[in-house]
Amino acid sequence: MAEKDEPMVVDGGNGRTCEWEGRWNHIKKFLERSGPFTHPDFEPSTEALSGFRNIHVVDMDTIDVSNLNRQFLFRPKDVGRPKADVAADFINNRIPGCCVVPYPFERNTLQFHIIVSGLDSVVARRWMNGMLLSLLVYEDGVLNPSSIIPLIDGGTEGFKGNARVILPGMTACIDCTLELYPPQINFPMCTIASMPRLPEHCIEYVRILLWPKETPFGGVALDGDDPEHIQWVYQRSLERATEFGITGVTYRLTQGVVKRIIPAVASTNAVIAAACATEVFKIASSAYIPLNNYMVFNDVDGLYTYTFEAERKEKCSACSQVPLDLHFSPCSKLQEVLDHLTECASLQMKSPAITACPDEIRQLYKLLSVALIEQRTRQNLSKTLKELGLTDRQELAIADVTTPQTMLFRLCFTS
Ligand SMILES: [Zn+2]
Repeated sequence: MAEKDEPMVVDGGNGRTCEWEGRWNHIKKFLERSGPFTHPDFEPSTEALSGFRNIHVVDMDTIDVSNLNRQFLFRPKDVGRPKADVAADFINNRIPGCCVVPYPFERNTLQFHIIVSGLDSVVARRWMNGMLLSLLVYEDGVLNPSSIIPLIDGGTEGFKGNARVILPGMTACIDCTLELYPPQINFPMCTIASMPRLPEHCIEYVRILLWPKETPFGGVALDGDDPEHIQWVYQRSLERATEFGITGVTYRLTQGVVKRIIPAVASTNAVIAAACATEVFKIASSAYIPLNNYMVFNDVDGLYTYTFEAERKEKCSACSQVPLDLHFSPCSKLQEVLDHLTECASLQMKSPAITACPDEIRQLYKLLSVALIEQRTRQNLSKTLKELGLTDRQELAIADVTTPQTMLFRLCFTS
């Protein structure tokens, strides 16, 4: 992620500091000769550029001891320090001439040429996606290509991973393929309560039903980071598992279920990181055609990988540039609209705030952190759209944590 106001330094051993004979030989093989996968417009040359040096790393997290098994840049002495600082120090010391700038705090994305993200949630991905879409410049409805900042997104979940290349405004964005991210799996309550078959069912039984009933530790909320709490849940889960002849309840699994942890696997992370770095190289050097545009990787059982082209969704709420229609009867309650926004697979909002616009800016419902407004507008939820004075073709502005931009919707009354 090189700063835009400085040239994207992708030079190939031109006598600057810390060069040595043959340093760039491996990269020259790609840049100084043609091959079956080179970009049709690419002209191999000894002048070709290679090796990006200016990297900015943004991470607001600090190093936890549990990170050390898979995050190779950190050592026991680094526990408690900002991840961005330690990672930057490590790379700068190891790679002569490389300049990694750490940001252990939020950082505007505006200044970067290419963004690589390895985020831990869909909401964070949607936010980044929305941010890059908000930077696009349209002139008379035509996208100005110089306003595009490519996003290379990598993600892993245990032994599965994916890498994708997103050209905001041109190729499928995160929200175009939102249906690919399944909602969190919750076991049916009847299974948990009366027909457990899996060790997870037993742990969920204790977490959801037994803990509030038996109020251990003076009735405090269950804390996944408190070993005594986990021990209590583990013992009770074991008892329930024994009762139903289920095996496999362990302390570790108990903690995993309670904290909803999916174990991170170092090798999967390494493969996905390498795929992302390769895509950055391709885009920065223009020597090869970038991944088009979604690669999945799975080494649960053997090794399996393939790529496909995720398609743009014509009515994507994030990148389609047209206000989406919301079809409701005038007799529908505002609560139903809210439920639709959170439950619809292609929207999956978290805590939407709805405002009627544009003639009269009127807050219909807002949850978020503003408790006062939530209280004042809560009564609107049980009112019908008609009672709220909303009309057919009315525009609704909806804000949510899944995007930095307010989204426009158009209310369409059904009869
Ligand atoms: Zn989209």
